[in-house]
Amino acid sequence: MACKWWGWGEEGRTYHLPDAERFWAYIRARLGDTKGIPRLDSLDGIDLRPSRLPKEALSALARISGDGGVSTDDAGRAAYSIGKGYKDLVRIRRGDVPNPTDAVVRPHTEEQVRELVDLAAREAIAVIPFGGGTSVVGGVEPASAGPTLTLDLQRLGRVTRVDSESATAVVEAGVFGPDLERQLNAAGFTLGHFPQSFEHSTVGGWIATRSAGQNSTLYGKIEDRVEALHLCYAGGLLVTPAVPAAAAGPDLVQIVSGSEGTLGVITQATLRLARLPQSRDYRGYLFRSFSDGVRAARELMQAGLHPAVMRLSDEAETESTLALRPQPHGASALIEGAGQWYLARRGLRLESGSIMILGFEGEAAAVKRGWVAAKSILKRFGAFSLGKGPGRAWERSRFEAPYLRDLFLDHGIMVDTLETATTWDRYLALHTTVGDALRAALGERSVVMAHLSHAYSDGGSIYYTFLAPQETGREIEQWERAKVAATDAIVRNGGALSHHHGIGAEHRPWMESYLGPEGMRLLAGIKSALDPRGVMNPGKFLVDVPEYREGSSRA
Ligand SMILES: Cc1cc2nc3c(=O)[nH]c(=O)nc-3n(C[C@H](O)[C@H](O)[C@H](O)COP(=O)(O)OP(=O)(O)OC[C@H]3O[C@@H](n4cnc5c(N)ncnc54)[C@H](O)[C@@H]3O)c2cc1C
Repeated sequence: MACKWWGWGEEGRTYHLPDAERFWAYIRARLGDTKGIPRLDSLDGIDLRPSRLPKEALSALARISGDGGVSTDDAGRAAYSIGKGYKDLVRIRRGDVPNPTDAVVRPHTEEQVRELVDLAAREAIAVIPFGGGTSVVGGVEPASAGPTLTLDLQRLGRVTRVDSESATAVVEAGVFGPDLERQLNAAGFTLGHFPQSFEHSTVGGWIATRSAGQNSTLYGKIEDRVEALHLCYAGGLLVTPAVPAAAAGPDLVQIVSGSEGTLGVITQATLRLARLPQSRDYRGYLFRSFSDGVRAARELMQAGLHPAVMRLSDEAETESTLALRPQPHGASALIEGAGQWYLARRGLRLESGSIMILGFEGEAAAVKRGWVAAKSILKRFGAFSLGKGPGRAWERSRFEAPYLRDLFLDHGIMVDTLETATTWDRYLALHTTVGDALRAALGERSVVMAHLSHAYSDGGSIYYTFLAPQETGREIEQWERAKVAATDAIVRNGGALSHHHGIGAEHRPWMESYLGPEGMRLLAGIKSALDPRGVMNPGKFLVDVPEYREGSSRA
């Protein structure tokens, strides 16, 4: 299901703060007083550039996509012209959509997508594939100077086959997370892919951005779960063979994964499934410091364990998570006090420690074995068990945090996230360097916190959240200052330009220094082969950079 236009998720649903007074006191102590900027009540009446598509083109699009398949109303075009990043929300809340799409087209079938892409290529109309529109890197925002259509894929939302023998499913690209899981669960399976945006994002969007779910340490990133796919490109349909593995040249699924709509439209995928877990056991642990926790995480991964969730908050994130809890009173205050005393005797403090949510799932016996092995490692790194409560609380609220972002924006607080990944040898240094870059860019009145949530034997992801009072009238410049400082620090210090959000328009300026001219030329060659007229999602990613298309090197 698509999100409300001005923020996250469904209208009327909000983040429940169990102790709002305590939480806002924590925020005020760090950010001072802040003042919200009023937002538009509705997009009706928004001042938008009229659609630039001529009548003949609109009629041709409508002929292909059928009844109700094309809309050009201003409110709809505005909502489809932004993603769900901080910058998007600041702008849409004040009705600032300078480069809107010219039409939203909603095909029902792969055949219609093929015809639409062919028509667009013939008529030089830019095409932006749109799944749930939850991109946080400017992936669905029009960037072309010419006419643009947004291809909403939600009507391609069917699960067409579940093969219980091979444990795979054939699904259309526009299916949303909850619909997909419901149908797979009914057949005894799960995809195991739960990004925080799960409720409002689609399979096609996941593959196009190489998304990572919260359980990726067990199930892998989405590109690990794709056996085969269909890609409609101008003039053709690429169908990759559905086999478990092959030695037939570079893997075409991997070439399309992460292409962010710049090569064509993913219309169908064959996904690898897992049996529904028989048992699930998530718990909380407290480490003395983030660095102790990171060392334990590395050890857990290199010992060959496969936790479903391993989420380690640094000290700042641990402190802010605790601020979200209600202030204990009466008997619970006594119990908490005793708990704190007990921890202190072991040299631990909740507020200055580092909390890990660790969980195993699968066959009951395997879960037990996982815990036996994990506990001995955790003990070596001084971790203290907080029991199953934190695991349960995390599971309950795993899709809720984005609603808190809406509250922050209402209160005049900038809040955004960014992420990277690196190898263990560089992990702690990168965590500090990027955090320092953000703090320097934001100033004293800010909160910068991070966690590790996707782990591998050779390294892990780092996911930052940062808050600061909005600089009224300069909200976008303030955000850009932080984004540039952090991304420069990531690229200079051996981090992945993105671990899972993708490149879009936001990370594009760093692609050349990240990939090098050879990598750029290779991708540009693929782009030329599939989209010679450059109509697919222009201005995103990198591959429509003409100097690379022509084969010259800037090296
Ligand atoms: C609150 C929040 C939490 C998030 N949490 C996570 C997370 O935990 N993990 C994570 O990986 N990401 C996360 N994201 C980012 C985002 O949800 C992912 O990038 C997601 O994969 C996008 O899916 P979508 O269907 O919304 O795609 P869209 O936003 O619609 O599109 C994303 C990009 O893919 C292209 N695209 C979409 N569908 C297709 C298609 N069928 N064929 C070709 N190209 C296509 C678009 O043109 C665009 O470039 C989060 C975002 C928000 C706002």
